[in-house]
Amino acid sequence: MNDQDNRRRVVIIGGGFAGLFAARALRRAPVDVTLLDRAEHHLFQPLLYQCATGILSEGKIAASLRALLRKHRTYFGHDEFAIYAPGMKTIEDALVIRRRVFGAFEIAESATDPAERQRWLTFALVGAGPTGVELAGQIRELATKTLREEYRHIKPEDARVLLFDGGAAPLAPFGPKLSAKASATLDKLGVEQHMHSIATQIDGTGLSVRAQDGTETHYDAATVLWTAGVAAPAVATAIAQATGAKQDRAGRIEVGPDLSIPGHPEIMVTGDVMNLNKLPGVAEVAMQTGLYAGRRIRHELRGEVYKKPFRYYDLGSAAYLSRGRAVVSVGKLQFAGFPGWVVWLFIHIGFLTGYRNRFGAVLSWWFAFTRDLRRERTYTTKQVGIVGNVYEEPPTSASAAAGGEQAT
Ligand SMILES: Cc1cc2nc3c(=O)[nH]c(=O)nc-3n(C[C@H](O)[C@H](O)[C@H](O)COP(=O)(O)OP(=O)(O)OC[C@H]3O[C@@H](n4cnc5c(N)ncnc54)[C@H](O)[C@@H]3O)c2cc1C
Repeated sequence: MNDQDNRRRVVIIGGGFAGLFAARALRRAPVDVTLLDRAEHHLFQPLLYQCATGILSEGKIAASLRALLRKHRTYFGHDEFAIYAPGMKTIEDALVIRRRVFGAFEIAESATDPAERQRWLTFALVGAGPTGVELAGQIRELATKTLREEYRHIKPEDARVLLFDGGAAPLAPFGPKLSAKASATLDKLGVEQHMHSIATQIDGTGLSVRAQDGTETHYDAATVLWTAGVAAPAVATAIAQATGAKQDRAGRIEVGPDLSIPGHPEIMVTGDVMNLNKLPGVAEVAMQTGLYAGRRIRHELRGEVYKKPFRYYDLGSAAYLSRGRAVVSVGKLQFAGFPGWVVWLFIHIGFLTGYRNRFGAVLSWWFAFTRDLRRERTYTTKQVGIVGNVYEEPPTSASAAAGGEQAT
């Protein structure tokens, strides 16, 4: 309840797909909505790999939450994340990966020792789900097309891209047919696939991998990227501890059919941090759970009991492999190769948040797909100034003098 006028208050933690769709469902509802997010933007995570590999700028895959919700009367708040093998979940992660990938070619160019040069030209990705496959394809395309004629000492196309996964095939959830097509396309691109391989150790030299027969192999790779999924944010554990809710191995909170925490009908958990019947952590689940939560609240505001359990409608999945090649699975329909890419294009144009971002992305794709141009290659080599995290207090003058500028 809001103390001043007895209006009810809904607090939404996180302005991702779930939070945004819940806020949209509550537009014009007679309730005060407070949206808390550690970032100021809503991020379209499915295109982070294009930001990391220079096709799209961060501004084209993110939209200010304030601008998106300007017609709602809503408010805000904050948090953070990674080292040897950065994951990819935030814009910061994508920019770190952009710096690591483009930076690796620069360092390889100036390396005089052939082994060292090859180490910098070796990229290892852990996880052959959509993110791993998309990044692997993009790094090979970058090396064989965009950067092909830009260096004097190295041949960028010599770059090795190693893709590791504990499963039997890349993109296994897409089914055997699409998975096999994806694997063949990756082969053609020159991505070295190591299936049935589990990463056991990652350090500054590369990574060690255990094969099915138990043998361990070390691969020298200056760039190791983690694309095998990330744990739920700390806020999920805080909520579970406060409410006694159960969490699965990934930290996701187990909820009932109405998305509420057992014993706490006033708290609903949606999207990636929710575990309901092991639904996957995908955008559609987040959007549909967000909408359901908003709808349930609207009914309850009218004094009705909302008995309808949440039901998920699987609208399919898509993964981009390379220019003109993608795999898409929608119900019984499956598309691969060029038809898959066309469907992928329309899905992403349709779902990218904000009209300006859609228009900007289409323009960037036009140049990237027709002329191999990647205009978003800028990366910084140092953090500017002394503040590493905008939410932390700046250091005192004494510690600033001792520490100086922070390299990242
Ligand atoms: C690289 C990548 C590629 C993907 N590709 C696809 C794809 O092709 N298709 C697909 O369907 N799905 C894809 N996904 C999954 C999809 O993006 C997620 O399922 C979806 O974003 C989940 O939405 P959400 O709202 O639950 O969480 P998120 O979108 O992660 O939003 C969570 C929000 O909470 C905020 N937050 C976190 N912690 C705190 C805190 N302590 N306090 C305040 N705010 C906080 C974050 O800043 C963020 O804005 C991909 C994900 C990634 C990372």
